[in-house]
Amino acid sequence: MVLERIARLFQAAQLLAISLAPSFAIWYLTTFSSSPLPRFESHLFHEFAITIATLIGGFVSYVSWRSYRESGEVFLRWLTVGFLAFTLIYAPHGLLTRTAHHNIWLFLLFGPVSRLVMLSCMAYGLAQYGKAAEDVKAVSASGFWRKVLIVCGVAVAAVAILANSPLAPSPWVRMPMETAAALLCLGGLAVMVRRRITSPLMKYYGVALLLFAQAALGFMLAKPWDHLWWLAHAIFAVGFSVVGWGVISALLTTKSFASAFSQEQLMRALEQEKELLDSLNRELWAERQLARTTLDALPDHVCVIDESGTILAVNGSWREFHEANNGDLAFCGVGANYLEVCEQAEGAQSEGARAVAAGIRAVLDGSQDGFSMEYTCDAPGEARWFLMNVRRAESAGGVRVVIAHQNISQRKEAELRLRHLAMNDGLTGIANRRAFDETLGQEWRRASRAGTPLSLLMIDVDHFKAYNDHYGHQAGDECLKAVAATLAATAKRPADLVARYGGEEFGVILPSSTLADAQALAEKMRLAIARLELPHEASQTEKTVTISIGVSCLNLAESPGALPRNGLDTQILIAHADNALYRAKTTGRNRVTAQAAA
Ligand code: GH3
Ligand code: MG
Ligand code: MG
Repeated sequence: MVLERIARLFQAAQLLAISLAPSFAIWYLTTFSSSPLPRFESHLFHEFAITIATLIGGFVSYVSWRSYRESGEVFLRWLTVGFLAFTLIYAPHGLLTRTAHHNIWLFLLFGPVSRLVMLSCMAYGLAQYGKAAEDVKAVSASGFWRKVLIVCGVAVAAVAILANSPLAPSPWVRMPMETAAALLCLGGLAVMVRRRITSPLMKYYGVALLLFAQAALGFMLAKPWDHLWWLAHAIFAVGFSVVGWGVISALLTTKSFASAFSQEQLMRALEQEKELLDSLNRELWAERQLARTTLDALPDHVCVIDESGTILAVNGSWREFHEANNGDLAFCGVGANYLEVCEQAEGAQSEGARAVAAGIRAVLDGSQDGFSMEYTCDAPGEARWFLMNVRRAESAGGVRVVIAHQNISQRKEAELRLRHLAMNDGLTGIANRRAFDETLGQEWRRASRAGTPLSLLMIDVDHFKAYNDHYGHQAGDECLKAVAATLAATAKRPADLVARYGGEEFGVILPSSTLADAQALAEKMRLAIARLELPHEASQTEKTVTISIGVSCLNLAESPGALPRNGLDTQILIAHADNALYRAKTTGRNRVTAQAAA
């Protein structure tokens, strides 16, 4: 901030001037003590001194006003008014130096008036000291500063008129003004003592009042241009510098006279602040340790990455998992780039890994707060399942993403086992009736949407009751297993479903197969079963079985009018296949009979 820099420079210059004051005194004494002249009348020097005083007065007024504007301190407002009035009324004292020969009063009277006005404003300000901060804008809006300038102008004019009046030389003009100035100073000091005003900057103010009172005394005893007159100027200048020092200190600290801190207060506040910071740091450290221990205790594998994908921290489970799987942590430990690892993954898991990387990038750019997904990865000898939880977090260092992998293989295996039990037949291992019904419903809907054909085979083992009776129930079961395996091996397309429909009946769903295709496959199945050799334990002879197959087909491409309406319509397909099967049975068994459904 430019003003602060100038204020500091000014303070340094003030310090230098105050430090060099003894040199000035030495020069003054060595120059004038042996001089026969009782007076030192140098107009140029006077003009120079008043110019400097006016510039300093203007600057201090401005600084004081800036602090007032920020703090709203009433005392500072009146201090500003005092400095401003002094500057404006004192300036003519310098400007009119050269008129001293023909009207000494015109030149002289501006001095005491300017000092008296300044001290009056300061005294009024002191009476307002400690008041609550005021609304600076409201004060400006009320035209206060304009009024101040007008009053100063009027004061300058009044002094000029007075100086040109016959009253001017009277000691009753100048003396009461100096006396009033001195009394204002002493009164101000008394108020300060009584109100115990001891804030650090007010100490400067008190010292300045004492100096101003002595300057007034000097002016009362002095005559224009004599040495005491110059000394009184110097005493006043020192007083002005001291109060100016206070004003600049206010600007550089709290922008207030009343609430600026003393060094002791400052040190105490710093000490308390430091204690607070230390205890907060300790708490933070403990919290961090707790978080770290909690993370390490978790069975989930957790890592934290930064915006670039670099791994910043991992927990114990993460470390153990990657050490066990990758040999070391270089692949996925702290410092590695998780996003790159995912994006450069190869093989079966590359697609899932790239989806993970894309999800994390979306979390990083703020499009989502997090996501969860399940994924599987193959470990030697087993397939493992993980639930991945990704969450966005803000930290002092920027955006972070916390990635936790939970091993859900056991749950997943149990789920898969349950599903297998629910959907597969216990004896033969192929799909059961429930899976058959579900699949038929799905394929039926698909076929009706896409207009593709859908075929169904209903298969029944011939004379199976007799088989059971002859070879026993156990052998019957083995036979059913062999038939199921043969049928499943014959229907090779992944979309085909061979199911145990019930007892020794099987159903085969053939999506996208025409009646002719289905008949061909049924024939293949019939032959495969007829060729099946079933060893019998007791006789070691081989026994054969045959099957009858009923085929039906829904083909909307060929019969667009036969649109299926709802799920119940699957029964039509089954009924047609059953009819065909019945015909196969009644016409000799071990054969394939077809009946189109649509
Ligand atoms: P066909 O079908 O040729 O008219 O004569 P079938 O003797 O096979 O008659 P049906 O289909 O009515 O007979 C079903 C027999 O299948 C009755 C039952 O003993 C036998 N069966 C059903 N389920 C099982 C099973 O799980 N294990 C065994 N071993 N036999 C079963
Ligand atoms: Mg049967
Ligand atoms: Mg049968």
